[in-house]
Amino acid sequence: MTTALKVSDLSAQIDGKKILNGLSLEVPLGEVHAIMGPNGSGKSTLCHVLTGKAGYEVSGTAHIKGDELLGLPVDQRARLGLLQSFQYPTEVPGVRLREFMVEAGEERGMDVAELNTRIDEEADRFGMTRFLDRSLNDDLSGGEKKKSEILQMAVLQPKVALLDEVDSGLDIDAVRQVAEAVESMRSPELGVVMITHYSRILRYMTPDRIHVMIDGKIVDSGGRELAEELEAGGYEAVRNRLGIERPSLEPERKPSDYFTETPFDV
Ligand code: ADP
Ligand code: MG
Repeated sequence: MTTALKVSDLSAQIDGKKILNGLSLEVPLGEVHAIMGPNGSGKSTLCHVLTGKAGYEVSGTAHIKGDELLGLPVDQRARLGLLQSFQYPTEVPGVRLREFMVEAGEERGMDVAELNTRIDEEADRFGMTRFLDRSLNDDLSGGEKKKSEILQMAVLQPKVALLDEVDSGLDIDAVRQVAEAVESMRSPELGVVMITHYSRILRYMTPDRIHVMIDGKIVDSGGRELAEELEAGGYEAVRNRLGIERPSLEPERKPSDYFTETPFDV
């Protein structure tokens, strides 16, 4: 088993606030892992720290196929094969999806002609051809945006893909489509980390492993049964089982508060 991403004892703080607390995680190549956690558990911070966003005090290690990421500049992390979705150049209006992908691919040392061929093939596969010459800032629906992000991954062929809140704000048909797109990305050369707050996307895909993140670390890992526990009892059930106290500032919530962002199965 070759490991795509191996994170060991990762801690991070910003502005004096400790957010990651000794997080460890291993994602083999070829696998899709889900990280589930309540709001504020540090999921997005994990992405920021791995991609190299400035401002964090970081300790621990994070390797992509054996190469240490931490301490490297953002572009070198990308060249090692790390890709986080949601890299929209919102400050550059008028950039077309195709141009954006060509530029991102060139930064990763890919050949332009080969990139254009891949873009055409993958856009065709995902039914996204008509979006290639539209501006990234055009009014895409939530689902189209997420599909365009998955297209970017298919084209750029990272070794590790970080998908933060890939299913947020989508109606249930779009959640299903995104789940199918993530499944179709599976490759022996890729490890996917799919981060989400809601368990509903797990109805449409089967990650190889599910990790629960609370208070800046992975507190439990498992398979399907963990998704079922979350679906039935929310993070409260996992906290109770593991004897983790609920932060006193956080109001008590019912499972339905976590899982019914939009109505589904109706
Ligand atoms: P999640 O993505 O799981 O909802 P985040 O990683 O966004 O969680 O945030 C984790 C915690 O860190 C939250 O309590 C958040 O308020 C806090 N936090 C995030 N960024 C900062 C910052 N720049 N300064 C202080 N606290 C922060
Ligand atoms: Mg987040």
